Amino acid sequence: MTDWQGRRVTVAGLGVSGIPAAKVLHARGAIVTVVNDGDDARAREQAAELEALGVTVRLGDGATLPEGTELVVTTPGWNPGKPLFTAARKAGLEIWGDVELAWRLRGPDSAPWLAITGTNGKTTTTRMLAAILTAAGLRTAAVGNIGISLLDAVLGEEQYDVLAVELSSYQLHWAPSLRAHSATVLNLAPDHLDWHGSMEAYVADKGRIYQGNKVACVYNVADKATEDLVRAADVEEGCRAIGFTLGAPAPSQLGVVDGVLVDRAFVPDRQHRAQELAEVADVRPPAPHNIANALAAAALARAYGVPASAVRDGLRAFNPDAHRMQHIADVDRVAYVDDSKATNTHATEASLATYESVVWIAGGLAKGAAFDELVAGAARRLRGVVLMGADRALIREALARHAPEVPVVDLDRTDTGAMAVAVREAARLAAPGDTVLLAPACASMDMFTNYNVRGDMFAEAVRTLPAQGA
Ligand code: ADP
Repeated sequence: MTDWQGRRVTVAGLGVSGIPAAKVLHARGAIVTVVNDGDDARAREQAAELEALGVTVRLGDGATLPEGTELVVTTPGWNPGKPLFTAARKAGLEIWGDVELAWRLRGPDSAPWLAITGTNGKTTTTRMLAAILTAAGLRTAAVGNIGISLLDAVLGEEQYDVLAVELSSYQLHWAPSLRAHSATVLNLAPDHLDWHGSMEAYVADKGRIYQGNKVACVYNVADKATEDLVRAADVEEGCRAIGFTLGAPAPSQLGVVDGVLVDRAFVPDRQHRAQELAEVADVRPPAPHNIANALAAAALARAYGVPASAVRDGLRAFNPDAHRMQHIADVDRVAYVDDSKATNTHATEASLATYESVVWIAGGLAKGAAFDELVAGAARRLRGVVLMGADRALIREALARHAPEVPVVDLDRTDTGAMAVAVREAARLAAPGDTVLLAPACASMDMFTNYNVRGDMFAEAVRTLPAQGA
């Protein structure tokens, strides 16, 4: 759609993506109506701002499709089962998310997109990639489900050579025509199944990222489902499948040999040669899952033509974000680590596997997850467990089944203040040399505003722990 004049567009949801979408479409001459479920003070303030521009806003009714709608542009998080979408589909309308809108408005003419999705590691990998591209002297930014929105990235003043794009499964669900330069699905494990409806639907949405890739589809050799998605994708002629592995790489793969990250994909004679990219020690933290993230970022950067030295320089310059296996302090020879961002079992599994002996703080909103596999796999590392949050019983039951010997403290609480108690209980269970790990395997919203606040409260509680040995 290029001529927006007089087009009737319904924007579903006020907020970080809805407001800019409404403004952009209105400025292009579309007749925009924003519908929103909430009707609180904040929503009214936002509505007033849009109404002053001439946009119609309906608060307190996100379910009804406005009369005459020709296109729906939705906030990515809105559940596809909502009556608004049922009505839109019945009327034969297209439904676009924020990414689709950005792509349709200017995607193909914007800087190339190097796109990243996966159950875990998206933000880390996207930031690593941006650091590598920057080290290569390119004008770039980490955008999408992170930092700058795609709409701003493709329509804003800033000129980019190439974009490092993080995409969530929700965004991909609503982005049918996106075509990236190159893309990766880092890994696939159950998450957000309550939203997508099934694992198959979740995987299929993630797989859209490979659709129409031009240069490389980057997959995880250890996660066959990601390779299957590459095989199923309809890509441009000449686009290559590139694997990343923690082992020695086969031709057309990136991997690790003797503590060195090597590229056997983007080199002239890949049957016989490989190119050194960086040391494992250049990756922070050097946990296995994070080395995998670094390899994926390197693969995308190399697909774009970045020299090997920029991969090393970029990885060295990269600073991990907070709440991702962040070491907070050592107290009485016990390490305290904040991995509040571990909001699903797959992330928590990687986290628990990094430490030998762990007192694990877990619980929150399970989002439909099961915990048996996670607990069975980690049982031998667990010194003890402290549970809190709405769905803690699910974890407690899995512990009873697979780790009956491990002491469990069930705080039976869902209030914010529980974190301080959890940390004290964990300190009581820990022995010198252990790690107290906040890796909840659950979302935080039952107890905290978000995972950042959860992590901050953990860190705060650690700082006020009395040091016994002092
Ligand atoms: P995302 O943006 O996908 O949520 P993050 O980089 O923010 O990813 O990391 C989310 C969580 O997943 C953190 O707890 C982190 O320690 C963990 N994690 C990061 N990369 C991986 C990976 N490749 N495999 C498993 N867990 C990971």
